[in-house]
Amino acid sequence: MAEKTFKYVILGGGVSAGYAAREFAKQGVKPGELAIISKEGVAPYERPALSKAYLFPESPARLPGFHVCVGSGGERLLPEWYAEKGIALILNTEIVKADLASKTLISAAGETFNYHFLIIATGSSVIRLTDFGVQGADAKNIYYLREIDDADKLVEAIKAKKHGKVVIVGGGYIGLELSAVMKLNNLDVNMVYPEPWCMPRLFTAGIAAFYEGYYANKGIKIIKGTVAIGFTADANGEVKEVKLKDGRVLEADIVVVGVGGRPLTTLFKGQVEEEKGGIKTDSFFKTSVPHVYAVGDVATFPMKIYNEMRRVEHVDHARKSAEHAVKALFASTEGKSIEEYDYLPFFYSRSFNLSWQFYGDNVGDTVLFGDNSPTSENPKFGSYWIKDGKVVGAFLESGTPEENKAIAKVARVQPLVESLDLLAKDGLTFACKI
Ligand code: FAD
Repeated sequence: MAEKTFKYVILGGGVSAGYAAREFAKQGVKPGELAIISKEGVAPYERPALSKAYLFPESPARLPGFHVCVGSGGERLLPEWYAEKGIALILNTEIVKADLASKTLISAAGETFNYHFLIIATGSSVIRLTDFGVQGADAKNIYYLREIDDADKLVEAIKAKKHGKVVIVGGGYIGLELSAVMKLNNLDVNMVYPEPWCMPRLFTAGIAAFYEGYYANKGIKIIKGTVAIGFTADANGEVKEVKLKDGRVLEADIVVVGVGGRPLTTLFKGQVEEEKGGIKTDSFFKTSVPHVYAVGDVATFPMKIYNEMRRVEHVDHARKSAEHAVKALFASTEGKSIEEYDYLPFFYSRSFNLSWQFYGDNVGDTVLFGDNSPTSENPKFGSYWIKDGKVVGAFLESGTPEENKAIAKVARVQPLVESLDLLAKDGLTFACKI
C-alpha cells in the first residue's frame, strides 16, 4: 500500500485546517512540505454557513463561495490556492489509526502517512439519538448537521417534502438556526427541547423570552420541558411521527436533531494527555507529545483571562487557535518564542433578520437592557454578566459593528460596576463609554 511522508500534516479539513494552511503559507512553508488530510470531499470551508445561508430557499450559499478564509473577511482559499502553494489536499480520506510514537497515520483505504509535525484538527461529531438507543431513531429523514454532505441531504429533503412538517429536536443555536431556515422554506416547524428556555447554557430567561416570542410570531411552535422518546415510520421506513415523553405525538416528514457534539479525540486515546474531554495543550497548542499540536474544537487550552483550562467549540477560536499554533510551531523551530494565546471567548449566531454576539464569560449576576419586545420593529437589547463587582460578559442583539466592538472591549477590560440598577439604566451606553 502507498506510503507518503510530509514534514507537516494537518489531520482534519475544517475551519482550523484552512486557517492553519493560510498561516503556513505566510510562514513560508515550501511546496511538498504540508498535507491536509480530510474525510470530507471538499477544501476547507466556513462551517457555520451550513445551518444558515446554505439552506436558504433563494440564492443559497454554495461552494466555492464560502471556502475559508472569507468568514473573517480574508481572501478565499480556493482548491487552486493549495495547488499553487504546493500544499497537498488529501480529501475523502478518513484516518482510522494514529500512532503518535511512530508518527504515522493510517487511512481507511490502508494508506500510510508519515509526518514530522502533526496538527490535530479533527473537530467534533454530532451526538446521535441512536447513541442512546432512542426507539425508531434510525428511520429515514431523520437528519443531523455537521458536514457539507449532511447539509446536501437536508437540501434534498426540503425539496422532496415541500410544505411538509419538520420537527427540530434540540434548543441550542443549531436548533434555532435550523428552525428559522426551515420556516423560510415554508415548512411547518415544531421545536422540542427539555430545558425551560432555549440556549440555556448561554441565554438568560430574559434573553430567551425575546427569541421564543419572535419565533412564535413567525409561526414556529415551541414545545419545552419534554424530549423525543421515539419515532414511528411509514411502510417506506420514512419517519412519520415523533413521540414525546409528555405523551404528545407530533407528525413529521423531516426531523433534524441538534443535541450537541463530541470532540473527535478517539484516535489518540491513551497516547496523549486529555483534560475536560479534549486534548490538553499549553498556550501554544502543543500537546503532551512532542511535535504534536491540537487546535479548534478538540483542544483544551489555558484560557489566560480566566486562569482556567477550557475547550471552546466556536468558529472564532478555531481560526485563531490554528493561526497561533502554526506561528508557535515556526517560532519554536527557529528557537524563538511568541506570546501566549490570550483568548477572549466570542460566539455569534444569526437567524431571520436577527444577529447576536456574545463576548466573555456568562457567570455571576445578570442585567438585561434595551428593547427586547419580540414584536418591536427594531429590537435591540443585551445583557451583562457581573462577577465580583466587574462586568465579565456581554451579549448584544442587532448591534452595529461599533457597538459589538464596544461590548467586546467591556468583556476584555472587565470594568467595575457601582450598581446593577445604574448599569441596567445605562445599558449599551455603559459599554460605549469604556
Ligand atoms: P471542523 O471545522 O469540524 O473540522 C474538522 C474536520 O476534520 C472535518 O473536515 C472532518 O471531516 C475532519 N475529520 C475528523 N476526523 C477525521 C478523521 N479521522 N480523518 C480525516 N478527517 C477527519 N460557531 C460559531 O461560533 N458560530 C456559528 O454560527 C456556528 N455555526 C455552526 C453551524 C454548524 C452547522 C456547525 C456544525 C458548527 C457551527 N459552529 C459555529 C461551530 C464551528 O463551526 C466549529 O467550532 C468549527 O468548525 C471548529 O473547527 P475545527 O477545525 O476544530 O473542526
